[in-house]
Amino acid sequence: MSQQDAQKKANDNKQPKAIALLSGGLDSNLAVRMILEQGIDVEAVAIKTPFCDFDCGKGCGHRVKEVADDLGIKLKTVYFGEEYLRMLKKPKHGYGSGMNPCIDCREMMYKAAKEHMEKTDADFIITGEVLFQRPMSQNNRALHIIEDETGLEGKVLRPLSAKHLPPTDAEKEGLIKRESMGDIKGRSRKEQLALAKRFGIQEPPNAAGGCLLTDPAFSKRVKDAMEHTDDIPTINDIELLKVGRHFRLTSSEKLVVGRNQEENEIIKALVQETDIVLEARDYTGPTCILRGKNHSSFTISKAAGIALRYSDAPKDISSKVKLMVAGNEQELEVRPSGVSETDALRI
Ligand code: SF4
Repeated sequence: MSQQDAQKKANDNKQPKAIALLSGGLDSNLAVRMILEQGIDVEAVAIKTPFCDFDCGKGCGHRVKEVADDLGIKLKTVYFGEEYLRMLKKPKHGYGSGMNPCIDCREMMYKAAKEHMEKTDADFIITGEVLFQRPMSQNNRALHIIEDETGLEGKVLRPLSAKHLPPTDAEKEGLIKRESMGDIKGRSRKEQLALAKRFGIQEPPNAAGGCLLTDPAFSKRVKDAMEHTDDIPTINDIELLKVGRHFRLTSSEKLVVGRNQEENEIIKALVQETDIVLEARDYTGPTCILRGKNHSSFTISKAAGIALRYSDAPKDISSKVKLMVAGNEQELEVRPSGVSETDALRI
């Protein structure tokens, strides 16, 4: 037998394999079950971004390992860090209603799945996408763009909506029975819940919504950070965006004020060498970070005033604020900042 024939025979006998983009939510879980049901081998790729770290409390990604175990499939986690922030600064396809660059983000996810598909000699990719469920990335045009730009045309099967979409290679080649695929579209979850029941999924998770970048208040902070950073914010800057009240003091300086003990601890853990840390000296109050460059005594006083505003210090007289500057403790006496003055600086 020639080498080519031997290869063909090996390929013919190979168990078909799919790579699933698994989020831990219900839809991708169902998509995997529909494909496993067809006798296809499935491995999963889960994506973490600085804004969707399996720990947002929305209950999707948090369950991803649990879901993969439950499905009995291998899981590979891929973390996007700086390259994600670079994309976020100027996404080719723009933003959704917040700072969510869904099309570019999905492209990065598809590319990670594609890489794993090639590495593991899998045949196609599956996702839990449902046509018209999300406005920016789950419409025919967006799905087409994403496939086209990632070189995955015909290679991505969305089992839940497959009957509304052009047949994929897996269907054309007979690896998958198209008639067993779903015809779900839109935002109602009725059909997914019925499917979950059929698969015996106990307590299916609620719809998770998008990542943090779809949150309007958080998006404002991200936009501000992007606009005031020459290159891209650091991962530490992004972590800082997730806690406290934020104030834009000058184009190169911002202040972050903890809202409770837990946030104060997180803020302390995120302090960088060039930050100035502020706390009311004689009263209970927040831990604050003044971050940026070219701090003038004017901005430091302003930051100290805001720190006092959110402390138990009396609001009509001056009090002392403790500053930690490059490892040296200093003190400053200022009056608490006024309400309207403080609010005007809030991001
Ligand atoms: S909602 Fe967030 S994680 Fe989901 S595709 Fe959009 S940007 Fe990416």
